[in-house]
Amino acid sequence: MSLVKNGDAAPPVEMMIVQSKRVKCDGGDAGLGHPRVFMDMGEDTSVECKYCGKRFVLDPDADPSAH
Ligand SMILES: [Zn+2]
Repeated sequence: MSLVKNGDAAPPVEMMIVQSKRVKCDGGDAGLGHPRVFMDMGEDTSVECKYCGKRFVLDPDADPSAH
C-alpha cells in the first residue's frame, strides 16, 4: 500500500501541538479525510499519522498525566 506521495517538491509537513500523547486523526477538514485512527506516542513525544502524514507533537508544557 502506498499512501505517501513522493513528489519532487517536499510537501509541507503539517504539525499539530497536542496536549495528550493519545491523539486521533481523521484527515482534518481539508476535504481529504480518511478513516479515523487513534495513535499513541508511547515513549515518544511525537507521532505521525500514517494516512495523511500530519505530525502530532506533544506540547512540552503539557502534563500527560492530567486530563
Ligand atoms: Zn491523518
